[in-house]
Amino acid sequence: MHFRFCPVCGAELVVAWLGDQQRQCCDRPRCGHVFWDNPVPVVAAIVEHENNIVLARNAAWAPGMFGLITGFLERDEEPETAVIREVAEELSLDGEVEAFLGHHNFRIKNQIIISYHVRARGEIRLNEELVEYLSLPFDQVRYWPMSTGLVLKQFLEDRGYHPEERPLPAAMQAQMDRLNAPRTPGPGGDGAA
Ligand SMILES: [Zn+2]
Repeated sequence: MHFRFCPVCGAELVVAWLGDQQRQCCDRPRCGHVFWDNPVPVVAAIVEHENNIVLARNAAWAPGMFGLITGFLERDEEPETAVIREVAEELSLDGEVEAFLGHHNFRIKNQIIISYHVRARGEIRLNEELVEYLSLPFDQVRYWPMSTGLVLKQFLEDRGYHPEERPLPAAMQAQMDRLNAPRTPGPGGDGAA
């Protein structure tokens, strides 16, 4: 994330070294606001419904891409409450948290993803964020080799399944490759840019 103006006083932000990291800062002495760019928490649900796993496609995603049910926390909301709310909003299902599965850093989006296994009941109706869903027996679920896909892989392996990998779309794979590439200093630069 990158901002141009200070959200406190409206001055143009500058980039400065604070400790060993570059940060966007406001250099007006009376303000001095720092944009820390901390990761944002997100909850994710592996939804178990009628003995199947439900994966959904977001309206913004390419055809063929399906994922877990995810969403941001509201202020003052506990993660367990948020994940149940997201399952209710997006699938119209009544859920309960079966287990906390772990958390991981999703660097592409600067998010910390907090994952749960959620058992859900009811009839699936998608909200406007989603365009289609899959309801698959555990042995037919494929995982994507990134972020929540790896949580899903672990979840299935822990239950004795051997899920197949579904390749990432080319554009996303290229983004992952860039993030994972070794950093090399540019000509005359210090490698920090
Ligand atoms: Zn400022």
